Amino acid sequence: MSRLEIKTNPDPILREKAKKISEITPEIKRLILDMAETMKKANGIGLAAPQIGQSIRLCVINTEKGHLALINPTITWKSLRKENEEEGCLSVPGIFKPVKRSKIIYVKALNQDNKEIKFRASGLFARVIQHEVDHLDGVLITDKK
Ligand code: ZN
Repeated sequence: MSRLEIKTNPDPILREKAKKISEITPEIKRLILDMAETMKKANGIGLAAPQIGQSIRLCVINTEKGHLALINPTITWKSLRKENEEEGCLSVPGIFKPVKRSKIIYVKALNQDNKEIKFRASGLFARVIQHEVDHLDGVLITDKK
């Protein structure tokens, strides 16, 4: 596994709408491992592919059970109820600001074995996923109210 360089604001790749992944190739699987390693070394709890210079819809999330890879994730439902909590971002060093996010979300994605996964997320887990999906749409915490 190798550690990848994390792109920081104002790198234009962070502003692109990332492309859907059409096939989970060995390169994608390798990238997932490298992203997981990069996230761990940087003490991050989530990392999206645009942050390491790949404009594709992939992110990794740190969970109690290890890293979770989400390919082409979509948030299929989000609660109207929101929470305002401080967030940081590896691509926006030195900035921490409160961001309003839905408390509960439902997520649909592919995992690295090309299987569709659907699950409910709440609290910090839901927050991290919303943050990473924002990255796939070119949105940074500095854009949030
Ligand atoms: Zn971020």
